[in-house]
Amino acid sequence: AKHAGGHQFSYVTPNLQQAAQARQGIADDLRAAIALRQFEIVYQPIVSLQTGTVHKAEALLRWRHPTRGLLGPAEFIPFAESNGLIVEIGDWVFREVAQQVQRWQRSIDPSFQISVNKSPVQFRRDADLYLSWLDYLNELGLPANSIVIEITEGVLFEGATQVIERLRQFRAMGLQVALDDFGTGYSSLSHLKRFDIDYVKIDQSFVATLENDVGDLALCEAIIVMAHKLGLKVVAEGVETKVQRALLVDAGCDYAQGYVFARPMPAQEFEAMAAAGAPR
Ligand code: C2E
Ligand code: CA
Ligand code: CA
Ligand code: CA
Repeated sequence: AKHAGGHQFSYVTPNLQQAAQARQGIADDLRAAIALRQFEIVYQPIVSLQTGTVHKAEALLRWRHPTRGLLGPAEFIPFAESNGLIVEIGDWVFREVAQQVQRWQRSIDPSFQISVNKSPVQFRRDADLYLSWLDYLNELGLPANSIVIEITEGVLFEGATQVIERLRQFRAMGLQVALDDFGTGYSSLSHLKRFDIDYVKIDQSFVATLENDVGDLALCEAIIVMAHKLGLKVVAEGVETKVQRALLVDAGCDYAQGYVFARPMPAQEFEAMAAAGAPR
């Protein structure tokens, strides 16, 4: 009828085109972002549930985009993974974090640790990157166990032998390893035994329903008991309420992070917080 032929998609095409252009725009901008120093790292305290002290933090990446504002990892990491820039970005994050943890070992606590996230793609691509990290740690004179590498369970399934070998290399370097988002996807308690790790991080989806779902509470308790038997420490993620915190303390959980304590914050703010005493 009226909108025949080329016109019949006139509603859809501009939107799809805009979306595609936006994606291409982000992918292009990403290439320059490191050189332009547009990435920032925010730090979220990891609180000891037994003592209330903060001697650990997780490093979380942000991109201060010149026109789009402050972007979270979900808005750009997928692009960085598909074009391979994740390797360069991950390398930058590692070096920044190594310098930061060294400063905080001097000013906050000598055994301060920072966790960094490593995407599955990065895990597969940068076969020898850990060697340059080792050089960098030596250059700084920083013990490797100052840094914890966080990997998700999914990684363990994609090419397991390769991944086990990489984990072995990390541990041989002295880096520590945390299993992130535990309880989601293909998770199984047997992984805790099979893989060479130091920390288990209980996914925030379980923590969110702790108060209302006795099944989730039982699951958290089982993870904690099993992890402790295997000599691992447990971190609960996404703790937002005092009730959740109390249940985790009772369950014997070692560490927690979440909005009930503090949101991720710039390094300077973190230092001020540490100087004023840990969030309780
Ligand atoms: P993740 O490793 O599971 O990180 C935890 C996420 O939960 C963070 O989101 C954090 O800001 C958020 N969070 C912390 N406390 C709470 C809480 O109490 N409630 C709720 N609802 N959320 C909370 P963020 O910073 O947006 O990071 C999202 C994901 O992006 C991370 O999930 C991680 O997988 C990835 N990511 C972050 N930084 C990096 C990086 O440097 N490299 C790579 N490859 N991935 C990164
Ligand atoms: Ca993480
Ligand atoms: Ca997580
Ligand atoms: Ca996650």
